[in-house]
Formats: sequence, C-alpha cells, structure tokens
Amino acid sequence: MQYPETLPLEDHEVVLSFDDGPLPRNSNQILDILASECVKANFFLIGQMARAYPEGVRKLRDAGHTIGTHSQNHPLTMNHMPIERAKQEIDDGIASVKAALGDDDSALAPFFRIPGLERATVVEDYLASQGIQTWSADFPADDWRHISSSRVYELAMKRIEAKGRGILLLHDIHERTVAALPRILHELKARGYRIVHVVAATPERPATPTDPQQWHLHPTSETVAISHWPKIPNFVFAEAGMLPAPSLSDFAGQDGRLVPGDEPFDRAGRRSHGIPLPQEAPWPRQSPLALDIAATALPVPALSIFEIQENPRATAQSLLPPSQRAEQTVPPDRETDGIAKLIRGHGGASRRGMRAKLHSVSRGNRVAAHGRRNTLKHLVQIKKRSV
Ligand SMILES: [Zn+2]
Repeated sequence: MQYPETLPLEDHEVVLSFDDGPLPRNSNQILDILASECVKANFFLIGQMARAYPEGVRKLRDAGHTIGTHSQNHPLTMNHMPIERAKQEIDDGIASVKAALGDDDSALAPFFRIPGLERATVVEDYLASQGIQTWSADFPADDWRHISSSRVYELAMKRIEAKGRGILLLHDIHERTVAALPRILHELKARGYRIVHVVAATPERPATPTDPQQWHLHPTSETVAISHWPKIPNFVFAEAGMLPAPSLSDFAGQDGRLVPGDEPFDRAGRRSHGIPLPQEAPWPRQSPLALDIAATALPVPALSIFEIQENPRATAQSLLPPSQRAEQTVPPDRETDGIAKLIRGHGGASRRGMRAKLHSVSRGNRVAAHGRRNTLKHLVQIKKRSV
C-alpha cells in the first residue's frame, strides 16, 4: 500500500497477517480457525500485549506461525516522533516478545510493521540497520473499524480480487475478525487462492531465490507499456456558477467559418512533386453544425469531479487501554479500487475513468517519494501450500 515493492508472490497467492495481539479471547479462536484449515500466518505483536499475555506468544510459536513485532505501545505517531523514541518503541517491543518466548527466542522473525502504517524513512533506516525488514500490507479489511463481520469479509474479498495477490492485513484481537475469517478462508479456497506463509530465512533455511522484478506488484516488462502520469495541475475554481458556452469563433478560421463545405482550392489543377492530388479527399465531408440548439452557457464542472483521496493508508488503532482508543476512519476502498480498475485497463473518458486516473497519480507520487527503502530481500523464505 505504501511501497513500490511487496512480497514476490504469484497471482492468486495471499499472505494472511494479523496485528496487535495477542489477546487470548480472540487470538485463540483465530489460531483454531487457522489450524482447522491447515494454514499458517504472519503475526505482528505489541510488546505490551506480549507482557500481559506471554502464554499467547508461546501458543503462536508452538503452532508454527511467524512472529514479528509491531512496537511496544502502538503509537500512531511514529512518522513524526523523535527517532530516539521510535527506536525505544521498536526495541522495547522486541524485548517484550523475546521475554515471553523465554530461552527459545529464535522464533522471533526480524519482521516489523509500523503501527498504523505511519511510516518514516528514519524509522525504516533504523530497522534496516538492525537487520529488520519493514512490512506493510497490500490490502486491509478495515476490521479495526466498527463494521460488521460480513463487511470485513466483503472488503477482504473485494480488495484481494482487485489486486489478485498480496498481503492481507487483519487483527486477531477483534471478534468481527474471528467471525469473518472462516468465510474468508473458505472463499479464498473456492476461488483458487493459495495461502502463503512467510518465514525468516536462516543459514539452514536460505532465502527464496527471486529476481528483483518479482517484488513489484505489477512488474514492468518488455511487453507491458509503462508511462509516468503527469502531475495534476492546480485547478483554480472560478466563483461564477456559469461559464459562457464556446462560441463559433473559438473553432473557426480567420473568416469565422468552420471546416469549409466546398472545395477551397482547385484540386484538379494542383500537383505535389509532379503528382496530381486526388479529386476528392477520402474522408467524409463535414456536415454543418446545428448551432441553433447549442446552449449559450454551461455549468462549471463540480469540484467533486476532481476529488482525490489523499490518505488511503490504513490506520490502525492504539490498543491499551481500550477506553482511549483513537479510532480512525480511513477512506475505504476507493483509491485501491480506482487503481485496480485502471490497471485492468478501464480508463475511458468517463467520470469514473477520470477518478481512477487521478487516484493513480496520487499513488505514483507516493511511491516515488518512498522509493528508497531497502527491502532486505535476503530475510524471507516463502512457504507455499494450498488452503
Ligand atoms: Zn496495529
């Protein structure tokens, strides 16, 4: 969602990821559901939760899931907090999960997801310097918002289908996620998806060999045309409610006539490099415009036509204590859907098409701004199995 690169997945491959746990009441049910479908997932734990429920951390390890971290206190300000504080959040979160794992902390993977996905280059640089890979996601299902479990299911499936592959962001601490997960897994299976489990590479378990292009969600290739979208102009909206309709003279030549109805020059007598010009142009004649039906004024385009969703990033909630949760609503799926539509080739001059193009511009800018991240590709091994 924020970076030009994601995991090197094939089409119809999905990684399940769960943030913010463990919270036994719901996390244990998530574990049971995953076990019943024989799938493994990637978890990103909060240090405070690991301190409160160390048994939950060990359950994840014993079930064979991948354990990464997600900060100590889940601050939603890592994009602008002093780097020393951000380092503390990262380090404390890791220490808390290691403490829960006890002697066998080799189960902790060097994977980190920034709370609320509020990324900052200095934070990513620090993580990289520690040999830790920064994770984001390819699609959320908004399961931290107050929506129904069937809405979580719908959003998950819609967004997975739009991109075809990627990392699904869920939260194992919510009841609605527990309720939606069996249906999501069932439907993924029915539609031919495979659940992919990502584990940390080790000397005995070397990183999956990949080529750089596989890390791009939509890799460039010699057969696919690429282009860079132009920057969006700064529109200035006039106060006038109406603008004058174009007048005939806007389209006409010096003499005020549209395309001439009759031959403007003597074709028969003209030659070009000695070759006579054809008597008739091969294209049809223009018929005169019915100017009397044209309106003399047209409405100014509405501001909403040029609307751009500027904050598509998923935001997550702070966890503890629940009474102080900062619920943040996110523009749901409009941008990602717009991009997906554009990528599938639905451009067009319609209003929808225009929205999709504008969204794509916004995405392009963001990608360009964040392109410096070191993905640490040597850190992952990708295990593939059917649902
Ligand atoms: Zn979170």
